[in-house]
Amino acid sequence: MEQVDCVVIGAGVVGLAVARRLAAAGREVVIVEAEDAIGTGISARNSEVIHAGIYYPRGSLKARLCVAGRKQLYDYCAQRGIAHRRCGKLIVATAPHQLPDLARIAEAARANGVDDLAPLSAEEARVLEPALSCVAALHSPSTGIVDSHGLMLSLLGDAERDGAVLALKSRVTGGAVGPDGIELTVESDGVMTLRARTVVNCAGLGAQSVARALAGLPAVSVPPLHYAKGNYFSFAGRAPFSRLIYPVPEAAGLGVHLTLDLGGQARFGPDVEWIDAIDYRVSPARAEAFYGEIRRYWPALPDGALNPAYAGIRPKPHAPGEAARDFLFSGPADHGLPGLVNLYGIESPGLTASLAIADHVSDLLRQGD
Ligand SMILES: Cc1cc2nc3c(=O)[nH]c(=O)nc-3n(C[C@H](O)[C@H](O)[C@H](O)COP(=O)(O)OP(=O)(O)OC[C@H]3O[C@@H](n4cnc5c(N)ncnc54)[C@H](O)[C@@H]3O)c2cc1C
Repeated sequence: MEQVDCVVIGAGVVGLAVARRLAAAGREVVIVEAEDAIGTGISARNSEVIHAGIYYPRGSLKARLCVAGRKQLYDYCAQRGIAHRRCGKLIVATAPHQLPDLARIAEAARANGVDDLAPLSAEEARVLEPALSCVAALHSPSTGIVDSHGLMLSLLGDAERDGAVLALKSRVTGGAVGPDGIELTVESDGVMTLRARTVVNCAGLGAQSVARALAGLPAVSVPPLHYAKGNYFSFAGRAPFSRLIYPVPEAAGLGVHLTLDLGGQARFGPDVEWIDAIDYRVSPARAEAFYGEIRRYWPALPDGALNPAYAGIRPKPHAPGEAARDFLFSGPADHGLPGLVNLYGIESPGLTASLAIADHVSDLLRQGD
């Protein structure tokens, strides 16, 4: 049996940020990742937007960790030369009945400490984005985009510099939590057992199944997992926008928005499709709904311009129709077992918040010591 100080399960952006944080504090860290590369899960299938922290309920972990994480992320990207751009975004009301929603969004943003949102008239918005159709908008100058893979490589590099070790093709399949530490069964070339003082479960879509496989962890502490797929369509050609465009949200997600990659290429999505099993295929049949949604704010979107691109899956702890839940961190104070923190429901803005999430996990572990 191998004995280590800390095991971080999952090498997505969150697991890598946590590993970096723990290694920087002088702890011995092993990162175990089921796949043969880092960042192939949710972290590879998102919008790569650095969110300002606008929409989340006041005082929620999403709000606090997004605002704190956004500032940390911009600083970190600047220090490490990670490609990113503070391109800004417009949240647009496309019909008069959405104006109260726009006002509510501005108020929520202020309550979250996002103090740079500027209300724009339709004419002012069109000065910024001439192709846009709207009745009013909010301009968020601190929203941006980031090269998420560059970010993950940098986080891994930092962690390894401080002694962390990455084990790829190593899947946690079971274990037990007891007074002497946490034992993990890890399947790689063979089956091995790792004993650790600290385990942080950052397995994304696999977090619940890892937790359920740990004997001694109360089952009631593990929330349900529902998959909310988000499909993306790419735009063939050059879209005439230089900022991100988000409609006022009307469904479970943030609406079919326009995001740009660092090369300026536009893509649209994600929508919300509740599914029962992981399936990343994008059905071309969904394009019709996308054309309708996008033409509300970009009426000149040409026919035939959208192509199925990719999909990501949000790990939702709530079922369709239930109230949205916050990020869930289940630590020693919740389940009573020292040294173990499980992260559940780390959907958007988890990429933006990753560095602040790492600080939060570190605090939870200190409280449990
Ligand atoms: C459609 C979509 C759009 C989004 N857009 C944005 C955005 O624009 N901005 C933003 O801030 N956030 C966004 N997010 C959220 C963000 O992408 C996630 O919060 C973040 O990537 C989660 O990272 P993670 O490390 O928790 O999970 P993951 O990246 O999924 O990492 C988990 C890792 O654990 C591994 N694993 C699983 N099971 C095991 C096991 N048993 N043993 C070992 N390893 C295991 C997996 O292989 C995986 O590599 C979006 C999410 C989605 C789905």
